[in-house]
Amino acid sequence: MDSIRFKCRYCEQPLGSISNEQLQQLSKNYTGLFNEELDGHVYYRSDGDILIQTVCSSCEEALSLFPHYHEYKSFLH
Ligand SMILES: [Zn+2]
Repeated sequence: MDSIRFKCRYCEQPLGSISNEQLQQLSKNYTGLFNEELDGHVYYRSDGDILIQTVCSSCEEALSLFPHYHEYKSFLH
């Protein structure tokens, strides 16, 4: 309950989790940036956990090599 898990939205690799408290601390420090980054990629699960889809370092590397992958973003919205 109230934990927030990060998962890569491309390869579904788990990227760790943080508590709700930690997230609030984080969003205080990085308000605008953080909200924009998370927009449209946050899923509230029925068990109270929050799943955040992000991009892992290996997929980020692949994206930088193949920039057209960014176009897939529009399908997820
Ligand atoms: Zn990945």
